[in-house]
Amino acid sequence: MRKLLIVFIFFSAFVFSLTCVSEAEAGQYIRYASNNGMRYVYLSDIAAYYGMKIKMSDKTCDIRSKAGNATFTFNHREGKINGIKVIYMFSPYVNRAGVMISEYDFLLILDPILRAAVTKHRLGVIVIDPGHGGKDNGAQGRFYREKDLVLQMARRLKDILRAKGYIVLLTRDKDTFIELPDRPAKAAALKADLFVVLHCNSAGHGVSGINGVETYCLTPEGAPSSADAKAKSSKKEDGNSFNKNNLYLAYCIQRGVLRNTGATDRGVKQARFAVLRDARCPAVLVEAGFLSNLTEERNLATGSYQDKITFGIAEGIIAYHRAMTGK
Ligand SMILES: [Zn+2]
Repeated sequence: MRKLLIVFIFFSAFVFSLTCVSEAEAGQYIRYASNNGMRYVYLSDIAAYYGMKIKMSDKTCDIRSKAGNATFTFNHREGKINGIKVIYMFSPYVNRAGVMISEYDFLLILDPILRAAVTKHRLGVIVIDPGHGGKDNGAQGRFYREKDLVLQMARRLKDILRAKGYIVLLTRDKDTFIELPDRPAKAAALKADLFVVLHCNSAGHGVSGINGVETYCLTPEGAPSSADAKAKSSKKEDGNSFNKNNLYLAYCIQRGVLRNTGATDRGVKQARFAVLRDARCPAVLVEAGFLSNLTEERNLATGSYQDKITFGIAEGIIAYHRAMTGK
């Protein structure tokens, strides 16, 4: 894979001045423009760089090749990469020169997924963290408690990954309470190369219409989380050392889970959860489904559905591992 070639062209003036850049450079260089103090890149240059065709409609823009594709919606953060929903950090927009996407989204979401561009690291020990436990029940469904279901799933995932040759450890293998900061600390003490946190969702009491799976990774420093309009922190946390790997792992796992379950795709998302913030290795948090939705609650409590979820997570981890080894 050729190295990402980026030429930084700094324009303090208006975006229109970018049309001055010679056509010969398009495809070779990825041009940048500043807008409200943020750096944006030309989607047409990115498409050319990846050897993709660009197609624009009224509200959306698509880049695609045989190898992959991405969709952007103007002035909205929701999009898709290779058919998986992603929440971009900043809304793409159109100006006279074409479609612009933020440099953050290009470098930390699009490129890691389209090129499987991750930093290589050892992957021997995987630590799984079943959320909640003990006095903390987590979400309460009509029949089941989150803390019990995620522990069952963690045990299944452990067995699957062990059978694949990984060393797999759990932060808790009983119904015990662990403080949030102690979870990534425990993973670090166990020398985790990968940290996978398991949770179930709830939309609140009586809200039954929402269902589906979402996979979170840590919000990059200076960017807004998926649920926020603006960045709440620009602090670089421990977990931000792995921004690209975090995102690619979340994508692989979300794809694996959707393939195996057929669940609703709620997307690859970013948040500053304490368990992800303090992780000292690539880390993700999987929200396996909604206990506030009766069908999903029933599914999540069955061994066969738990198998589908955990096979999907394992498939994602193996795909991530493969991207590092090239096998
Ligand atoms: Zn939870």
